[in-house]
Amino acid sequence: MDYRRTYLKDLLAGTAGTRADAYGWVKTRRDSKEVSFVQMNDGSCFADLQVVIPHGTLPDETLKKVTTGACVRFSGELVASQGGGQSIELRADEVEIFGPADAQTYPLQKKGASWEFLREIAHLRARGNTFGAVFRVRARASYAIHKFFNDRGFHNIHTPIITASDCEGAGSMFGVSTLIDATSPHNPSATLKSKDFKDDFFGKPAFLTVSGQLEAETLALALTNVYTFGPTFRAENSNTSRHLSEFWMIEPEMAFCDLEGDMNLAEEFLKEVIQDVMDHCRPDLEFFNQRIEPELLQTLDHVVSSPFERVTYTQAIDWLLQSGESFENAVEWGMDLQSEHERWLTEKKVGRPVILTDYPKDIKAFYMRLNDDNKTVRAMDVLAPRIGEIIGGSQREERLDVLERRIVEMGLPKEAYWWYLDLRKFGSAPHSGFGLGFERLLMYVTGMKNIRDVIPYFRAPQQADF
Ligand code: ATP
Ligand code: MN
Repeated sequence: MDYRRTYLKDLLAGTAGTRADAYGWVKTRRDSKEVSFVQMNDGSCFADLQVVIPHGTLPDETLKKVTTGACVRFSGELVASQGGGQSIELRADEVEIFGPADAQTYPLQKKGASWEFLREIAHLRARGNTFGAVFRVRARASYAIHKFFNDRGFHNIHTPIITASDCEGAGSMFGVSTLIDATSPHNPSATLKSKDFKDDFFGKPAFLTVSGQLEAETLALALTNVYTFGPTFRAENSNTSRHLSEFWMIEPEMAFCDLEGDMNLAEEFLKEVIQDVMDHCRPDLEFFNQRIEPELLQTLDHVVSSPFERVTYTQAIDWLLQSGESFENAVEWGMDLQSEHERWLTEKKVGRPVILTDYPKDIKAFYMRLNDDNKTVRAMDVLAPRIGEIIGGSQREERLDVLERRIVEMGLPKEAYWWYLDLRKFGSAPHSGFGLGFERLLMYVTGMKNIRDVIPYFRAPQQADF
């Protein structure tokens, strides 16, 4: 056996009359008078392969073990299919059972399982239609993202996952420490070896990164156009359908680029990645369109073909004030937009993604470039219908004096940012970038309603199984 193999998707595209081996997992077996039908899948495509076994070809004892969940190889001849739904099927004359699955206890039964239950069997759910499709789309989108940047001369960089600096000053970070005397995750009680961080592994407090941006900026000011695509962590206690404690973030950073250029990249990025997935995962998206989100394909087509609306935060606040809607959170200039406001803007007012720019400086991070009005910063958020914020970005403050003032104003320790400030001392340049949550993008592309269902194993408050 070799990794090189003919996938079921190749067999399904093959020609009748050839011999073939089909490896995969059994979805169902149905016995009629003269033949047995087996639906099997190996994850290579949405469609199942139908295997037909004329009675008498294989021993009954063996055939009985071909149950839902079993892992098998069927060999035989590809033939034109009699039934509807597929053009090619396999007429089997040989079977090998690698791993049987007890039909009584196999947890992934055919229909009706709730999303919650499927999360509890996350180790098996990828064998079903929905999660097979989700993870194929996830893999394709990841590839499309690397291709997008590579085609434009961006260098993929790797920023640290363990960090001693809090990029945003937001403080919702997981600590990384060896002070806890927990030699095994099975040990339920932990003791502290020391209360002094000097005794800790790095000799000071360390954390899991919330963003690779600051480090990415340093590389942009050497390699011009760079991007990261890696895991990020947030210890915020937000149990929502759009927040994870561990998620993957894409962060491009560009020297000699202002907010206009940043918005252009963000828009091109979303359009190209969505188009790529539509071109390469069509059957998966058709399934989502049919079963998960009506009009998904129509929406995606629309997003790809129409320009995003670009408006200032101030304009958006005016729209919200004049909307006549009664929002749960009252609207006033200076507030952070809540999900209900974002949804009204994208779904009701504009009907497609919206890029909001020039937010009040007090609700944005210290590194965003201050506008001449001294009140707003060159920030942009891309908001999408259904899910709200999908991208957050800005032109970065490249002026040393302004940046120093902003750090102090925000109550952050200037010394900690010495290397970040160095960038503005030595060869500073106008530059911009953004952060995009990969799982938010996947929710948008698949129509899946809960962010926990677009990542193989999700992390959320009180939940870190598998
Ligand atoms: P939100 O207001 O939705 O919590 P944020 O303002 O905290 O987002 P940023 O810090 O700007 O988000 O992070 C950049 C991007 O990362 C966001 O635009 C979003 O796509 C994604 N993101 C942020 N927090 C999470 C999370 N907890 N889980 C998944 N994706 C996230
Ligand atoms: Mn957040």
